Amino acid sequence: MHAPLSQELTLAFERVTAAGDFILGDEVQRFEDAFAAYCGVEHCVGVSSGTAALTVALRSAGIGAGDEVVVPAHTYIASALGALNTGARPVFCDVDRATGLIDPAAAAAAITERTAAIMAVHLYGQPCDMRGLRALAADKGLLLLEDAAQAHGAVHDGRRAGGLGTVAAFSFYPSKNLGALGDGGAICTDDVVIAERARELRNLGQRGKGEHVVAGANERLDGMQAAFLSVKLPYLDGWNATRRALAERYRELLPADLELLTEAPGRECVFHLYPVRADDRDALAARLSAQGVQTGVHYHPSVPAQPPFAHLADGGDFPAAVAWAQEELSLPMGPSLTERDIARVAAACGA
Ligand SMILES: *Cc1c(COP(=O)(O)O)cnc(C)c1O
Repeated sequence: MHAPLSQELTLAFERVTAAGDFILGDEVQRFEDAFAAYCGVEHCVGVSSGTAALTVALRSAGIGAGDEVVVPAHTYIASALGALNTGARPVFCDVDRATGLIDPAAAAAAITERTAAIMAVHLYGQPCDMRGLRALAADKGLLLLEDAAQAHGAVHDGRRAGGLGTVAAFSFYPSKNLGALGDGGAICTDDVVIAERARELRNLGQRGKGEHVVAGANERLDGMQAAFLSVKLPYLDGWNATRRALAERYRELLPADLELLTEAPGRECVFHLYPVRADDRDALAARLSAQGVQTGVHYHPSVPAQPPFAHLADGGDFPAAVAWAQEELSLPMGPSLTERDIARVAAACGA
């Protein structure tokens, strides 16, 4: 993926090194402006990771100790840790059986008088049901946060992820649809107050030089990663188009006993991963491995069952999330694969 970009990336490295602009600075500002425009929002604030983006986004909206954040029980653990790290309590809710995405009815049932926010995780690159979630958030006066770490470029009713709620968190972990050459993340929002607080929080709470107005952390995006991201951003739509074409090929070729994702009308998935569900997931993984096909599991065990969340003792039961954790297998997916690779994987699934 990076080989065709090596000249552009080398030039970016040389430019940043010559300028000595290693922390925040012009390169970060330049990328923030470009990514805000890409997402169709007013403000982008670069931070050090997707997990930091979630925490800073919630804290910037005033959420912390004493608050509850509704989080889907089927997601990457960072979604729930991002909420936990603010001091708030993540409250899990079940997901939709077909998509694995947060179910607005289950989210509504998880709301209490302490609930301050709902986290919409666009898992696998699929946009959540934002109409349902926006109606719920508006009705209850809650913040609607997008965890868009797997959904750079995903579309919902003509708008891109990042501009579908009040505030959004992105990760630029190298394997994401848009990845840095190291860690990185960003917050996107149209809310100027949230954006200004996020700029302070990511930088030790600093407003003016030497003036620290809040107990922030060091969660800055560095100039080198911003410069690399500026090189890669113009390629994102092409990479996503390749992912979507490969997903279409899988749909044509995979055996009928596997359950695949289907796109809801008005929503474009960017297939960060290609999850299938199989009754005997582990046997399928072993069969593929024996034929030289590497697969992944995203995610098992489910988040509420992991030790950092045990003390919350929800005692909730999340049948759809548990089924996803047991049945999901991620087949190879990425912009450097070819249709021949997909045909080979599909044949191995049927063998
Ligand atoms: C990757 C990811 C994160 C965390 O991003 P990092 O940059 O690794 O901290 C959060 N949520 C989801 C859904 C992710 O996939």
